[in-house]
Amino acid sequence: MSGKFDVIIAGAGPAGSAAAYILATKGFKVAVIDKAKFPRKKLCGGLITDKTMKTLEKIYGYSEKAIIENGLIEYEAAEYSVFYRDYKIQDGASPIPFRFVNREIFDYFLLKKAANAGAQIFTSEEIVHCNYQDAEIKTKSNKIFKGKYLLGTDGVNSTIRKSVPYDKKAWKENMASTIEITFDAKDYPREVKWPELYIGCLKAGYIWVFPAKDKVVVGIGSLNRCTTNFKATFINFLTSQGVKNPETIPLHGFPLPYGNYIKNPCYGRTILAGDAAGLVEPLFGEGIFYALQTGRYAAEAIAKGITENKNPAQFYLPRLQQYIFPEIIYSNRLRWTLFYSQRLLKHVSFKIAFKSLPTKLAEMIHGIRSYKFLLKKKWD
Ligand SMILES: Cc1cc2nc3c(=O)[nH]c(=O)nc-3n(C[C@H](O)[C@H](O)[C@H](O)COP(=O)(O)OP(=O)(O)OC[C@H]3O[C@@H](n4cnc5c(N)ncnc54)[C@H](O)[C@@H]3O)c2cc1C
Repeated sequence: MSGKFDVIIAGAGPAGSAAAYILATKGFKVAVIDKAKFPRKKLCGGLITDKTMKTLEKIYGYSEKAIIENGLIEYEAAEYSVFYRDYKIQDGASPIPFRFVNREIFDYFLLKKAANAGAQIFTSEEIVHCNYQDAEIKTKSNKIFKGKYLLGTDGVNSTIRKSVPYDKKAWKENMASTIEITFDAKDYPREVKWPELYIGCLKAGYIWVFPAKDKVVVGIGSLNRCTTNFKATFINFLTSQGVKNPETIPLHGFPLPYGNYIKNPCYGRTILAGDAAGLVEPLFGEGIFYALQTGRYAAEAIAKGITENKNPAQFYLPRLQQYIFPEIIYSNRLRWTLFYSQRLLKHVSFKIAFKSLPTKLAEMIHGIRSYKFLLKKKWD
């Protein structure tokens, strides 16, 4: 036995570290276990929205100024461009800037916050087995950790999720693939000052070109079941951007949950949050916010469950249903409206949407408005 804890947290991405910080701050005995050695890289565009900034403030008490002063924001831009293939649909400006984090720095910062709050951190420890009913995990080095509760925040390929009875077919149905390359800004054929989105190259997905500090991040994401020639589409895009010999560049890919969220990610003493539960917005693929927010909801539910001797699911699920699922459900509807219409109308529906509602759409992405009918959104 390597340790008995109140809560075992599997995975130290934003979901796990936020949850660990909250629980440790409340005085619970917490173990965070991650297979990686930190700081570690994570394939990610690093775009964070206004609702992410507000959630960071809720969890850590950091104002926007403090988040920036802590060096977490590497780049910001209010402008954006949307293209249909190489035709520019819209140059716009959001009332609130899009901000970019470097995940290596961001995730390490959050993990250190959890450690400083008293969570015990076990890195370079890969979880290979999970007994979800007993909230017990075993690592590759044969360490066993047991908790009153186990929180699975071990990302899209979650070992914890694979141990619980979840609907594997539904999960597979809405998985997306991604490829992302980070260029040194000086090596990219042109200057990239703000985020750019390219639609029309894929049936259900898009290409992004994001600015970063002295870097340019170019990525492609698409729903697997609607995708053919994924890699070739990306190489062709890079060629169209003026990148020389893109086929010789090593490509890195990673799966992304893309509409396959689990409606009840509670399994007795084991709970899932973040990517492990598929809690990603399924149009743009925003996941950092959903990881932080659902990690927070799960941690607060577990804390209340232990304190009041009640099932945490009764506190976690209602918050998912009230605040998270409507965004996922309605962004999923919007994506199919846009993706189906592009097959018939090419760029026209996107153009109408972006030209007629530029501010409201930007507010929707930032979480000021909901994906549900663009109504004003209240977060708790
Ligand atoms: C190419 C790409 C670009 C993206 N761009 C954006 C973006 O710009 N903005 C945005 O908001 N979202 C973006 N996302 C989504 C975002 O990266 C995820 O939604 C987010 O990282 C989820 O956080 P998480 O804490 O749930 O999981 P993760 O960040 O994946 O963390 C999971 C952790 O679990 C650990 N782990 C996994 N398996 C084990 C195991 N067996 N044992 C121990 N530890 C384990 C991993 O090492 C990792 O540290 C992007 C995703 C991809 C793939």
